[in-house]
This record gives sequence, C-alpha cells and structure tokens, in this order.
Amino acid sequence: MDTKYIFVTGGVVSSLGKGIISSSLACLLKARGLRVTIQKFDPYINIDPGTLNPYEHGECYVTEDGHEADLDLGHYERFTNVRTSRANNVTTGRIYQSVIDKERRGDYLGKTVQIVPHITDEIKRRVKYLGNTGNYDYIITEIGGTVGDIESLPFLEAVRQLRWELGINSLCVHLTYVPYIAAAKELKTKPTQHSVKALQELGIQPDILVLRTEKEIPLEMRRKIALFCNVEPDSVVQSIDVNSIYKVPLMMHDQHLDEIVLRKTGVAVEGEPEMAPWLDFIHKMDNAKETINIGLVGKYVELQDAYKSISEALFHAATYADRKLNLVYIHSEKLTEADVDERLRDMDGVIIAPGFGQRGIEGKFIALRWCREYDIPTFGICLGMQCMVIEFARNVLGLHEANSTEMNTHTPDNVIDLMEEQKSISAMGGTMRLGAYDCDLLPGSKAAMAYGKEHISERHRHRFEFNNAYRDRFEAAGMACVGENPATHLVEVVELPAKRWFVGTQYHPEYSSTVLSPSPIFQSFIKAAVEYHKEKHNSNK
Ligand code: GLN
Repeated sequence: MDTKYIFVTGGVVSSLGKGIISSSLACLLKARGLRVTIQKFDPYINIDPGTLNPYEHGECYVTEDGHEADLDLGHYERFTNVRTSRANNVTTGRIYQSVIDKERRGDYLGKTVQIVPHITDEIKRRVKYLGNTGNYDYIITEIGGTVGDIESLPFLEAVRQLRWELGINSLCVHLTYVPYIAAAKELKTKPTQHSVKALQELGIQPDILVLRTEKEIPLEMRRKIALFCNVEPDSVVQSIDVNSIYKVPLMMHDQHLDEIVLRKTGVAVEGEPEMAPWLDFIHKMDNAKETINIGLVGKYVELQDAYKSISEALFHAATYADRKLNLVYIHSEKLTEADVDERLRDMDGVIIAPGFGQRGIEGKFIALRWCREYDIPTFGICLGMQCMVIEFARNVLGLHEANSTEMNTHTPDNVIDLMEEQKSISAMGGTMRLGAYDCDLLPGSKAAMAYGKEHISERHRHRFEFNNAYRDRFEAAGMACVGENPATHLVEVVELPAKRWFVGTQYHPEYSSTVLSPSPIFQSFIKAAVEYHKEKHNSNK
C-alpha cells in the first residue's frame, strides 16, 4: 500500500488539542494493525524547544535518539506506544538552517533562494522523510500554530502542494472551536466557517472537520457546517470535553473518524480496531474508588504542562494500581521548615521534580529531609535525584556546604559535578547528555525489582552527575548507588535501602511511560505509596 499522509491543522484559537486528536487517530489506526507515526512541524524559529523556558513552551520532551522535542511527541508516544525520533519534530529554524547550509555549500547553483520553492521544498522533503523509509502506512503531520498566523504560511503552502501531488494518498483534518455563548445560550459556528475560509484561501480544502466544543453540537448544526465548508456531513466530527484525554480515541471511533480516514485515503475498511487493552485501562480509570495522594515538589507548579510526562506517568501507574490520582503540586520556592509538615503530611508519596538552577532548590532539600526522616515513599528525578544526594551529604554525612557545582561553583564538597564531557561546551542548544543510555542495576535493589531486570535503557537530559569520588562515603552511610552506566560508571540510580522506597534516578523514566506500557519504576513507586497509605490508614483505626 502507498504511504498515506494526513495533515492536521487548527483554526480559531490555539490549545484546542491538535496533538490529542492526532494521537487519537493514530491510536485507532494502530489498533487496526496499521503502521503509524506522528510528526509535528512547529512554526517558530528556535531550532528545537531545548532552549525554551517551560513558561514559554511547557515541558521539553526527549526522544530516545536524544532530540529535545515538543511535548506533543510525548502524547504521540503515550497514545501509540510507537517511539518517535528527531525526524518527528521539525521547526522553522531547522528548515531555514538546512536551506541556508545548502546555500553556503553552493547547492543552489547561483539561483536566488526563496520561500517558494526552496523553503517549501525543504518542508516537503521532511514531511515525506519518514514515509520514504517504508516503515509506515500512515504519516500524521500536525502543523503547529493556528491558520491565519504569518509564521505558519510556508507550512500550509507545502501542505497545499503535497495535497495536490499526493491526491488520494493524503487528506487534511482541520480542528476548530465552536464556542458556546452563555448569554445567548447558543453554540456559534461562524468562527469555524471563517477559519475554513482562511484555509481555502490558501488553497487547502479540509476533508474532515473536528469541532472542539463544551456542549453537544446538534446534528442540524453539523450539517450546516458541512454545507458551508464543502465537507461531507459525516466528516464533521465533534470533540466534546471529556474527563480524560485517553477517552478521546473512543469518542473519535464512535463517530467513525478512523473509518472515514481509511475510506478517504482509498483503504478498505475491514473489521474493528483492537481496543481491548485500551478499554481495560479506561475501565480501571473509571472504576477506581480509592485515591492516592502524591505531592510533586517543583518550581513550575503554576504551569502544569511543565511536568506533563511526570503527571501522565503517575496517572498510568495509579490507574493500573486501581487508584484515582490526586496529584498535589507543591511550590518548592514557598516550602519552609515551618510548613513542610503541614504541606506534606497527607501525601502517600512525594516526587522531587527535575529542573535547572538555584531557584526553589532549598525547598527541595527541606522536603527531602522531611520525607527521609518520616520515611515517606520518595522519588527524585534528575535534579530531584541530585537534590537527594546533596541533602544526604549535608544532613547525614555532615558536609554542610555540599552542593552541585550548578548552584555553587565554589562548594567545598561538589557531590554533584559537571560531567567531564560538558566542560568544553559553551553553546546551550542540544548540548546536554541527551537521549537513551544503558544502565545496569544492582541485583536485589528496589530499582532492579521494579524493572524485573538488571539491564535497562532510559532517557536523559542533564549536564551534571553524581561525583564518584564521594561514592564510598555515601555507600558507607546508607545511600547506595544501585544503577550505573556500564561504559562510563556514571551513577544513574541512588536509593536508601533502609527506607520504604527512597529512590532517585538521574534519567527521566517518565518519558517512556505509555498507556499500554506504563513505566515500571513509576508503578513501583505508586505501589509503595499504596502500601504506605494502607499502613497509615490501619494505624489510625
Ligand atoms: N540541572 C541538572 C543537570 O543539568 C538536572 C537537569 C534536569 O533535571 N533535567 O544536570
């Protein structure tokens, strides 16, 4: 079968959930046995989101091959269980960089280099790149931004050309918003009509409309939209707000989105998607009676997208443990000795978040000391793991000024230090230790038991590491280094074996947790939190 290309565009407003719609469609096609991948084309000039502040762009996701990517790639993996790579996320900056590199090499043979055709050709080349590998039946391309933005014009021009070239092997799904005007008690279709017009002016006729709405859109209204927008009535699908993003694939299937896509791209519709494992997950989610309280100590708590993969990984693990997740965000900058007890007392487990820089770090130490002394299940991730090491050095080893050289270059006890390979690097973009690396786990450790094996591979994003010169002192005092990289001996996992569950990972296990393949270490953490919850409950009786 020819590779099929689906383009997903958005209109009216941003944040409608193009990533979730793309992921849901991919989830259904995958469940029909098709080979699917999703890619995101972002119109901003940064080469990748790695240098962006979480306030600008939410979490920075990391692929196995070490690309710092848009957080939508996290949704793509969580919904499809298919790994993404650097080819799955392309920005305007990367497009221009390669065109300018080619120009400098003289590849354009004296021609004037222009947006059309040179930039658009480069976009088209990248859209088709994964398709040309022969590994996929469907390539879903999400175009970032909203129709009407100046910066997405070259991408939409490339989509126009590709639709023309690819014919039945491509289609466009346009996501819009149907607002409910409370004063008039009415849903309004005009913004959708305008946004489709804007797309048509660029030469793109959407084949399918997905209407994001808070209220049920009556059939009559969907028919009217179809009529005004040159779309078949059954290809106007509504995406009504639901209590979990993981229900969106089911809602799309109820309206036959997967069948419509197959039919419109010339593929025979046979049978139904195999959604049984997905439905089991939803069933567990809907039927969980008891709650598990997890505190997440970090500095970006007002912005929950900053910890997207962590909250999803916790949610996967809690759901499989038949628990409702009550995730409480605790601002590390505001946490003090005076209120730590009150803020953490009701938690069944605590996560110490990843991050960069000094701000909020003292609150993490306060939380860690409290968790260690009261023996609460505690999970430190990346900077969170480094904070575990520093807190232990200060309060158990008595190295009161111990620190990471990230926070204090003159610390007398640099228990966390810049990695050797980082010392000659000055550029910020794409230069951390990124992507999946191997890790050997100590037999019998909590981490090894969590994974059920001793050789794992997880993703990274850091410049600093545990300073092995201190390793013996930590181990003698009860902090065990139970995971290390086999090639470099970089410490990947520390734990306090004497505690219920006190584990820190230099890597980010949250990136690889998916609905159908939840992260084993998150599951182990949640299991420990569930046990602790039961214990607390029994002793209060
Ligand atoms: N700032 C720390 C480092 O670079 C941790 C990074 C992180 O938490 N992702 O090593």
